[in-house]
Amino acid sequence: MEVGVLAIQGDFAEHISVLSKLGVTAREVRLPEHMDSLDGLIIPGGESTTLSRLMTIYNLREPVAEMAAQGRAVWGTCAGMIMLSREITENDPVPLGVMDIGVQRNAFGRQVDSFEQTLDVGALGPEPYHAIFIRAPLIIRVGDQVDVLCALDSDRPVAVQQGNLMATSFHPELTSDSRFHSYFLELAGGNSKSRNGVS
Ligand code: GLN
Repeated sequence: MEVGVLAIQGDFAEHISVLSKLGVTAREVRLPEHMDSLDGLIIPGGESTTLSRLMTIYNLREPVAEMAAQGRAVWGTCAGMIMLSREITENDPVPLGVMDIGVQRNAFGRQVDSFEQTLDVGALGPEPYHAIFIRAPLIIRVGDQVDVLCALDSDRPVAVQQGNLMATSFHPELTSDSRFHSYFLELAGGNSKSRNGVS
């Protein structure tokens, strides 16, 4: 199984480091050809307007959308989640539109733009999950095919999954709890098996 991390902006090094603790050497993705034969891709947090521009300049928008459409695992964290969404509440950046969610950037206001919150995430087991939010986006619309993995309360989902696609408003790469990365590797591993004809 091979996974990559989009390494053009934001905290890609932290994702790579968590994956390496889990025994996986991730590929740094800067150009479309770096995506060849990847089973999974992480789009890290950072600044979505910059990320969007760089993805356009390096011709990465189409290959990432194609990966998502082919059923390969793609996970966006924070700014990465903004990029995966179908629509956002403003005109800039232009998201990739691959995941059926609507997102509001910087939804928690300037004065509380960073906070930590303990969450119940059933898919990760009974142990509570400590999440770090940094100028976080909020998911304000969830499509029919999208499962909510966890929420701040009944109106505010912060981690969602749509088949092979996952998005989190917070930063699992900044904690020592690697369960979200393990979960993503399972998604990517499942895809690599089915693509290789192994069930
Ligand atoms: N506020 C940033 C944006 O809109 C996202 C912040 C982050 O990725 N930590 O792109």
